[in-house]
Amino acid sequence: MPTTLDFRSDTVTRPTPAMRLAMAQAEVGDDVFGDDPTVAQLQTEAAQSLGFEASLYVSSGTQANLIALMTQCARGEEAIVGQQSHAYRWESGGMAVLGSIQPQPLENQADGTLDLDLVAATIKPDDPHFARTRLLALENTMGGKVLPIPYLQAAGDLCRHYGLIAHLDGARLMNAAVACTQTTDVAGTPSAEQILRSARAICAPFDSVSLCLSKGLGAPIGSLLLGSQEMIARAIRVRKMLGGGMRQVGLLAAAGRHALAHHLTRLADDHANAARLAQGFRELNNGTSPLAGQLSVEGAHTNMVFVTVASTIAARLQQHLAACGVLCSGAALVDGRARQRWVTHLDADAKAVDEALDRLATFKLGAPLSP
Ligand SMILES: *Cc1c(COP(=O)(O)O)cnc(C)c1O
Repeated sequence: MPTTLDFRSDTVTRPTPAMRLAMAQAEVGDDVFGDDPTVAQLQTEAAQSLGFEASLYVSSGTQANLIALMTQCARGEEAIVGQQSHAYRWESGGMAVLGSIQPQPLENQADGTLDLDLVAATIKPDDPHFARTRLLALENTMGGKVLPIPYLQAAGDLCRHYGLIAHLDGARLMNAAVACTQTTDVAGTPSAEQILRSARAICAPFDSVSLCLSKGLGAPIGSLLLGSQEMIARAIRVRKMLGGGMRQVGLLAAAGRHALAHHLTRLADDHANAARLAQGFRELNNGTSPLAGQLSVEGAHTNMVFVTVASTIAARLQQHLAACGVLCSGAALVDGRARQRWVTHLDADAKAVDEALDRLATFKLGAPLSP
């Protein structure tokens, strides 16, 4: 069996030896008592780098979003969210179940944004018939797509105008930040400082931001929630309520610190590798193999490529990929077609991309598959 090439998600990375060393050497204490120096360092450094007063280390991106919502919306209040957003669609309905917060979903536009005129029109009047509209949540990147900074500023202005809280699900904030540096002032690979400058610009319009350390940044576990001192102080209680108070968690926070210190600039490699993968898919689609004319390629968007596989070969291609040890997500067939998501990351590098394309090129049509 050849080595498995795993493009399902940037969450599959394993800690590097240097990261494991940082974890092993971390100074720890009981963080529920506020005694863990490594957690405190991570929280202070992250808040400073991203232009917030404070931040909170939490177990997951899902928990970061839930804490943000529960801290800033009361029972019976409403949050405007994207129909396709993670916080609405992929978090088990937590805001409704655990926060008694009513989600008001709006369809995302093709570029991942929410139409701000529609957002304004959706804010409910102050009337006892209605839930009070309290918060707008955006997501960046959204399906790998980068929301433009002027759009984020307009969204923030809208929130201030209507007295809404603005929350950003920035699970992949740093991917967005890298992409923003590349489209503006910087030629070549951006420096960590340039990436952080972009990240601050992305965060500036928002009252709160969540950020995953366990995706492209390569930490095994953990997310940050960023906000004002006052908001984070209240968030600590909500985290405790949700069972998210952790003890000698500096072991994990050390991985997060290492990730922010050493894995920021390499995100540009992930984007380059995703572009290389997208190019390879296009060449296969335009080539002479049985894949020719069967693939519709979208992206690369930051570190993601989406490939829709025609129903004529979709089932057979899934079997081929499984047999040759290449993993992507979206294997389920819809109307006989597959919409695959391929994500590049620390453990799926340029070599892995080339190897995956080589294995794809060996695809052969054959007898119909038995189900
Ligand atoms: C992954 C992700 C989350 C949740 O993170 P987990 O750590 O998996 O709970 C939230 N929002 C977005 C946009 C994500 O991609």
